[in-house]
Amino acid sequence: MIDVEKIYSRLKDERVRRAIGVQSAVRYEMKKFLEGQGFIEIPPVIISPLTDPLRHNTYSAFIDYYGAKYSLTKSMIFHKQLALIPFEKIFSFSPNIRLEFEDKRKSGRHLAEFTQLDLEIRDASREDVMDLVENMLIHIIKEVKEKFSLDTEIPEKPFPQITFKEAYKKYGENFEIELSRKMQNPFWIVDMPLERREFYDREYRKGILRDMDLIYPHGFGEAASGGEREYKYERIVDRIKRGGYRPEDFTLYLEFAKRGLPRSAGIGIGIERLTRYLCRLDSVEYAALFPKVIGEHGI
Ligand code: AMP
Ligand code: MG
Repeated sequence: MIDVEKIYSRLKDERVRRAIGVQSAVRYEMKKFLEGQGFIEIPPVIISPLTDPLRHNTYSAFIDYYGAKYSLTKSMIFHKQLALIPFEKIFSFSPNIRLEFEDKRKSGRHLAEFTQLDLEIRDASREDVMDLVENMLIHIIKEVKEKFSLDTEIPEKPFPQITFKEAYKKYGENFEIELSRKMQNPFWIVDMPLERREFYDREYRKGILRDMDLIYPHGFGEAASGGEREYKYERIVDRIKRGGYRPEDFTLYLEFAKRGLPRSAGIGIGIERLTRYLCRLDSVEYAALFPKVIGEHGI
């Protein structure tokens, strides 16, 4: 049932009004920063037969059209790789639909509809992307802090780094949120094990990936995920198999991979989560004007 009263009162909620103002400024600063670095903004893809399989399960969201089966975009990862054929550096404000399960309801970080600033750079390393994101985050906070009287500190560079292995050893399965609560500065978790991530993140030591998550401090948790990508056909096939999938289910993507994908690295940063962090909101639902809250009916 749609709770019209709740949705109507959200439109008068001062927290939401402020958050959307901050979000608008954040998007403006992202675009300004990235175009200043030579990036091209590509339009988002909303439906496609190619989308991110994701490492966790969501309800499926498909559209049948003239016998073609389109998925609603869960992430633009494969389109980013293809967009690097004509362009060297690309970004997109990419709406994602992920019909998350009930267990994500109380996380404060999950919506069923959200937007990623998704970027990808040809021939880049993980470290190139980390450096870029650190500079961009510092730029954004500097630009919006005063205008909106935000409490957010301007982070210090370089952001601290910890490997997945070290973090897991010290804090166990809940390492991400435990570390997030402890830290005062955004930080990176690097070198995820293969079984925790999708097949497109590049493996560089047996079972360890050249990837990273950016984590906000003060308990706000994951901000972004990225990495270097697998781009060679044979390696992608191998990773698909080791990821427990059948290559036949990725025929279309593999057709493109056969013709050649550029080497690249990139990252996706959740816009609503960044807004939540900057505005110190209890939940990401206040960082959206028409949120699709997990387990509720929205408009
Ligand atoms: P992923 O590659 O799955 O980590 O997604 C990239 C980024 O998108 C994450 O780091 C989050 O900032 C954001 N994100 C992912 N899933 C959601 C969700 N259900 N609701 C809001 N933001 C999300
Ligand atoms: Mg992630």
